[in-house]
Amino acid sequence: NRKLLMIPGPIEVDPSVLRAIGEVTTSHVAPNFIECFGNSIELMRKIWQAPYGQPFIIAGSGTLAMDMAVCNLIEPEENALVISTGYFGERYKNILTTYGAKVTVLQAEIGEIVPLEEVEKELSSKDYKLVTITHVDTSTGVLNDPQPIAEIAQKYNTLTILDGVCATAGEISKQEEWGIDVVLTGSQKAIGVPPGLALFVVSEKAMNVWKNRKNPVQNYYGSFTNWLPIMKAYEERKPSYFGTPPVNLIRALEVSLNLINNEGIENRIATHLVYAKAFRKAIQKIGLELVPKKEDEAANTMSAIYYPEGIDGNQFIKGISEYGVILAGGLHSEIKTKYFRVGHMGAITKSDIVVTLSAIEFALAKQKYKLTIGESIGTFLENL
Ligand code: PMP
Repeated sequence: NRKLLMIPGPIEVDPSVLRAIGEVTTSHVAPNFIECFGNSIELMRKIWQAPYGQPFIIAGSGTLAMDMAVCNLIEPEENALVISTGYFGERYKNILTTYGAKVTVLQAEIGEIVPLEEVEKELSSKDYKLVTITHVDTSTGVLNDPQPIAEIAQKYNTLTILDGVCATAGEISKQEEWGIDVVLTGSQKAIGVPPGLALFVVSEKAMNVWKNRKNPVQNYYGSFTNWLPIMKAYEERKPSYFGTPPVNLIRALEVSLNLINNEGIENRIATHLVYAKAFRKAIQKIGLELVPKKEDEAANTMSAIYYPEGIDGNQFIKGISEYGVILAGGLHSEIKTKYFRVGHMGAITKSDIVVTLSAIEFALAKQKYKLTIGESIGTFLENL
């Protein structure tokens, strides 16, 4: 009864990663686990492209990574800017408000990004402590280019937090070269592990900002004070304890990070770009329209696609499932019933996409949508 999981996370996981979860559970201070944790930290620096950054591996979902980045860096009454391209920008606003920040949101139109001039105008208008960017907003499939935003932020001495939950290891990202202060993700996306880990790397600059805080961090579990010594100890291959880490999941993380690193992060990302572009062409060939309005603002880890006229969304998703593929419905409240989402990240294969396109075609045809069966698959394969 196994179905192909093609939603924007959790995703299909490499069998070797799954097998690692089934290994015997060890103590969190056992030498083999200490080595596994230390190794994972070192691999994160490579994959994040942040040789001097401080990686964190914490039990929790991507939202915990968002929460920890904010609660450790912001102080009450400080200004924060949210560049929102959908649902997950809104989440940032809520987290920042929780810790007493004064939040301004620059909201993009659905399917668009916020123009750089607007970002610059806002950042120059007052003293912003930090700005948040969603690399790929999973609700719209819109891709932000973090580099020019980070450049502007540095000009105004504002910290940048990049939500890479639907992007890291699948979209081009060079944390140190671009000067981004926190790049965060969850294990269940392009990192290729089942859900359960919050993963992020913090720049030296941001770690110093945290060290020089005026007020204590308003969070116990998520405070760097508790976790920094643990990350350092594991990296030095020494036993330590604050909260029990999910040892099996971290072993799976090590296996997946090794897969990515052996392939080479640049190669892994290049494959995402090729598959995604060919997938978009395939979808457009059969007359479907993407939520992102511009090709270079469309994500390479996932796609958000409008239903054509006359297609019933619920029936469509159900039909797809009957053909053995799981896709996701809409998430953005304003267009929720009008579109669906496909994840194509991580250890994705060509055949996964071929099967998905086939299920999409059949589910559309079932609702009397006019298309030539096989057309999108041909377009996908021709464009690889
Ligand atoms: N940000 C983005 C861009 C996401 O896609 C998600 C999850 N879909 C999150 C944050 C939150 O992550 P989680 O569900 O793992 O808490």
